[in-house]
Amino acid sequence: MKITFHGAARTVTGSKHLIEVNDKRILLDCGMVQGKRVESREANLKLPFDARSIDVMILSHAHIDHSGNVPNLVKSGFRGDIISTYATRDLCASMLLDSGSIQERDVEYVNKRHLKRGEPPVEPIYTQADAAKSLEYFITQGYDRPRQIMPGVTLTFKDAGHMLGSAFVILDIEDRETGRDVRLVFSGDLGRAGIPIIRDPELCDSADVLIMESTYGDKLHPPYADDTKRMEQIITQTYKRGGVVLIPAFAVGRTQQLVYTLHQLAINNDIPDIPVYVDSPLAIDVTSAFRLHPECYDDEIRAFMETGGRGRIDPFGFDMLTYTRASSESKKLNFLREPAIIIAASGMMEAGRILHHLKNRIEDPRTTVLVVGFQAENTLGRRIVERAKTVSIFGEQYDNNANVEVIEGFSGHADRDDLLHWVEAMHKKPRQTYLVHGEEPVALALAQTMRERFEMMTVEVPALHSSVEV
Ligand SMILES: [Zn+2]
Ligand SMILES: [Zn+2]
Repeated sequence: MKITFHGAARTVTGSKHLIEVNDKRILLDCGMVQGKRVESREANLKLPFDARSIDVMILSHAHIDHSGNVPNLVKSGFRGDIISTYATRDLCASMLLDSGSIQERDVEYVNKRHLKRGEPPVEPIYTQADAAKSLEYFITQGYDRPRQIMPGVTLTFKDAGHMLGSAFVILDIEDRETGRDVRLVFSGDLGRAGIPIIRDPELCDSADVLIMESTYGDKLHPPYADDTKRMEQIITQTYKRGGVVLIPAFAVGRTQQLVYTLHQLAINNDIPDIPVYVDSPLAIDVTSAFRLHPECYDDEIRAFMETGGRGRIDPFGFDMLTYTRASSESKKLNFLREPAIIIAASGMMEAGRILHHLKNRIEDPRTTVLVVGFQAENTLGRRIVERAKTVSIFGEQYDNNANVEVIEGFSGHADRDDLLHWVEAMHKKPRQTYLVHGEEPVALALAQTMRERFEMMTVEVPALHSSVEV
């Protein structure tokens, strides 16, 4: 059996791993590379394998760095099944179309420049129509429902506790070449205990070969409860200054967690009466998908909903909360003069309506930019987190006078100890472990920690496009 690491190798985005076994080709994830515009466009446009040669694709979860290039896979000739959980499929229905529209708009921008320079126009990586077509290839499978997906290969999804519908992937494979049974486990993105709405990550009882994420492989997150307290303080201080709290957030997952948390803070009067705006059409669509999948909820949110008795409480709606869909409503937020909280995508501040709000408010010292998610290298978000004095937004320079706060407790990712604990809990430890989905120094640090902790284990950090025989 051969594994080739075609993405998220020594970096975080672009998750794509190809398994070749018994003359079949299984693709784990088909994510988008995010970061520098030109390089990522090239990396996303041309798939590093022949799409027609892939027999089946397994999708760990709906985040764009895992699902975002699925439409291009289908556009490039893939005709197999894309297997995901139910919630992942429904989230992809909104997210991939949204991504298609981003690709279309991106190309408009690039082509304006090309026209000026007399260069030929370029095509979008995929369109909304391509994204819609790719949805026809999805088939769904619930958690803990092992199913044979091809002769000699059984797939089980387990709850990864990272976002709604997120799964880690167990493949039980009869490898005909070696005559061995191999259990290959792909962690996808692992969550952490205590994340609101969703259940804690399930444990994995055994693995022979493990492909594991390492996003926060050298860090520890503060507990969620402490960070809720800090969030309370940050909101109250900004309110007293008369400022606006801008929260850049993934429309998917993070926004719903924030809304639910703010709902709880508001009900308990832990924050002042402050209007909250979720300024993202995608977040609105995704919130509907959240309402459709109570099978993924944890006990805490169920109990919260039931406090309303028969008129069950909607965790994603409360009096001070407004969802803004139309761009005219979004623009009105520019004229807000009172304290408010504005949640908008994208999480790494690379696109979306958050850019307009940053442009409008980053020079105002009353503003707080509250960062609750991971910021990859070469993104505007990373520059802001590093408290750059000036930042470029839509090609213009702005002074960064805002108060920048980072709260890591809202992270949907396991930290170093969570990852170690997850491996520790396996009663049969993997003989081979490959760390992916982490920046190089972080992945290397975790590999070292794991080698010290689990003496019998071989832990490697594969290079991009490298292959291993297992
Ligand atoms: Zn993810
Ligand atoms: Zn990811």
